[in-house]
Amino acid sequence: MSFTYEALPMRVVFGAGSLRQLPEEAERLGLRRLLVLSTPGQRALAEQTAALFGDACAGMFSEARMHVPVEVAEAARAAARDTGADGCLAVGGGSTVGLGKAIALDSGLPVICVPTTYAGSEMTPVWGLTENGRKRTGRDRSVLPRSVVYDPELTVRLPVEVSVTSGFNAVAHAVEALYAPDASPIVSVMAEEAVRSLATALPAVAADPLDIDARTDALRGAWLCGACLGATTMSLHHKLCHILGGTFDLPHAATHTVLLPYVAALNLPAAPAADQSLRRALDTDAVPTRLAHLATALGAPRSLAELGLTEADLAEVVTQAQTQPYANPRPVTAQELRSLLVDALKGSLAG
Ligand code: NAD
Repeated sequence: MSFTYEALPMRVVFGAGSLRQLPEEAERLGLRRLLVLSTPGQRALAEQTAALFGDACAGMFSEARMHVPVEVAEAARAAARDTGADGCLAVGGGSTVGLGKAIALDSGLPVICVPTTYAGSEMTPVWGLTENGRKRTGRDRSVLPRSVVYDPELTVRLPVEVSVTSGFNAVAHAVEALYAPDASPIVSVMAEEAVRSLATALPAVAADPLDIDARTDALRGAWLCGACLGATTMSLHHKLCHILGGTFDLPHAATHTVLLPYVAALNLPAAPAADQSLRRALDTDAVPTRLAHLATALGAPRSLAELGLTEADLAEVVTQAQTQPYANPRPVTAQELRSLLVDALKGSLAG
């Protein structure tokens, strides 16, 4: 066995009610003028959070949008300058965290995150910006949040449908971390535990969204999945989701949910250790069908067609995937890729 592992300097404060510790986190970082970021839909929660800071809140910017359009990033950067902010507080899912990272990339301002979905962006140094329908991404240590406060109480209002797809988005990070070119034993331990915890928690969340124990387990799993994402290089699954979201505007988390079983079916035979970990985590001999059946049993979309993709779109997806290099445990031909996409388009593994 040989591997390289580099720990990211992450600080995590976790637990029901931990939102109240937020002012201490800002104080630790010496921040006195925070710009509070959110989506329009989470403005009320952002205001409630801002109230914890009193005078240390420099202002609010509540226009975060999926995939960080450059014009939104520019408006947020201007708000940070105009308010004299010395840091940002991102309250929300991956879109809001992504906006905080866009500000950090430009200005170096530190970001504190309060995640409210299971997307995991708060654990990674990966930024993204979308311009003219194309999303650019990159890794930069300066965008890695300085402190992350995970409070499961904030996730009880996350609708079940979003909880399930966001949870599978997280599971996809762990699956691809298990067979990443830079996988390592510590990441594999985190990934296996992360999948186990989400696979157990999501049905309980779907049965009772207010169940704080289930929400706690789901958020703990999502944190671990995000840490796996931050520590490794993603493969075919993330490449395809990036293309399907960027070029065809398919919804981010739902696309991850539908596609994952098909990529797992293609890749796991070439990644036996990852397959074994997932079999243990999911308590099954057939990981791809277990993933597909779990998602559909919890009400997730069953096929890419349901998300708006058509057969005519497949050639473009294949072309883009074949021309943009990505890591993968095995090489994939255009024919194999097309056949994977045809299956996902139809939902052939959905129970
Ligand atoms: P999102 O942040 O857009 O949130 C989805 C919707 O749910 C929004 O309308 C939001 O207002 C609402 N919402 C969020 N939390 C809620 C809550 N607790 N209660 C009620 N409503 C709530 O979606 P997402 O799936 O969290 O993030 C997706 C984005 O994150 C994509 O752009 C993706 O590319 C990015 N992402 C980046 C990384 C990275 O490492 N850079 C990792 C994962 C995801």
